Amino acid sequence: MTPILATNIGLAVATFSKARKALVGRDTRVSSFMVEDALSSGLLAGGAEVNRLTVVPTPVLAYLTRELEADAGVMITASHNPPQYNGIKIFDSEGIAYNWEKQKRIEEIIGSEDFTLANWQDIKKSSLWDGNHYYMRKIEQTVKLDKKWCVAVDPGCGAACYIAPALLRRLGCKVIAINAQPDGFFPGRSSEPNAKSLERFAKIVKELGADMGVAYDGDGDRVAFVDEEGFFVDSDRLLAVYAGCMVKRNHGGAIVTNVEASMCVEKVVQTSGGEVVRTKVGDVYVAEAMKQHSAIFGGEPCGAWIHPQVHYCPDGILSSALLLRALEDEGETLTELVSEAPRYSTLRENIKCPDKLKDMVVSEFREDSRSLFPSYKHVSTVDGVRLTVEEGWILVRASGTEPVIRVTVEGESFKTAEEIMKRGVTLIKTLIREMRK
Ligand code: MG
Repeated sequence: MTPILATNIGLAVATFSKARKALVGRDTRVSSFMVEDALSSGLLAGGAEVNRLTVVPTPVLAYLTRELEADAGVMITASHNPPQYNGIKIFDSEGIAYNWEKQKRIEEIIGSEDFTLANWQDIKKSSLWDGNHYYMRKIEQTVKLDKKWCVAVDPGCGAACYIAPALLRRLGCKVIAINAQPDGFFPGRSSEPNAKSLERFAKIVKELGADMGVAYDGDGDRVAFVDEEGFFVDSDRLLAVYAGCMVKRNHGGAIVTNVEASMCVEKVVQTSGGEVVRTKVGDVYVAEAMKQHSAIFGGEPCGAWIHPQVHYCPDGILSSALLLRALEDEGETLTELVSEAPRYSTLRENIKCPDKLKDMVVSEFREDSRSLFPSYKHVSTVDGVRLTVEEGWILVRASGTEPVIRVTVEGESFKTAEEIMKRGVTLIKTLIREMRK
């Protein structure tokens, strides 16, 4: 990520969105200051007025873009990736992330240098702007808590470090914050909140006797939870039970999740009277499908949950507040709530495959898999091939970054999962061998 590239992205966004007003936010990464200045220069040169929000979580930037009627919102972050990475995520005037087509247009404009440049007398100003109170007020209006919850909060020194502890306090929680100082080296833990990176945090939650532990990724759009007993919460099962709560509250409705999520989502949601829509992996696809199906809730197992009553950007901070509300409604602890979802076995394998054969292998798998699993119930090609079989499913996808085919399997028991995986892997290896001839 060079300053020249960042400036060109700013110019391309101003050109594409005909932006008169743009918001720019950043996470706490070391390189984010540099990218912010370069990107803002590009937006200014393209004729946009630039409001710099400095350190904000991605969902706050997205919410404010829509709320303040900006033409574009640009977030500088590499999300959950290591501190040496950086990236730029663009939002439209509705606060929805640019999809693949729009991103491609931005790349084309950069490639052809077909920028719209403002006349000298039309170049606007760039100024610092604090919009956090707009977001905080909206969340306070949306989530009312009656109980005084004790919550341990770990923003991992990332973008949620200011606003998450402050907001939960304003909702009436007793908050114990750790790794809540901005630090672009992420010294406390990896910026991806998972069972491994939150090992120490989980112990702290138990030691402190907190009701819940919440941890965010580098830009605060994902959240992971630790229960009151100090265990990392299985994100698939939590997604399922929370979705079930939403369906119960709304007396039905559509829930959107991606093809990788556990089948416990269907089990819980359908039992509660709702329906499940599956999309490609990626929060943009989930958000688009939610709009299309007027879904009441959507989310991915990585902890990116979307609450349409506020906006269509995954929001880790809002998710933590709404989960507390759901616990109050159900009158349960986090452990009790999660125990309502069935526990299944998931297996993952990567099979080496030359890049040029990957797509062919996946489409051939689609043809042959039906005879491999004659009693299959359903085939989906939303993302790779996903086959629903007796007591489980198998998902076969070509990796977008490595010369491998990724296979994910879930079974009602470990033995079933192993059996499905064995059959799937044997077929894929045979296909690769035949194609190589
Ligand atoms: Mg993120």
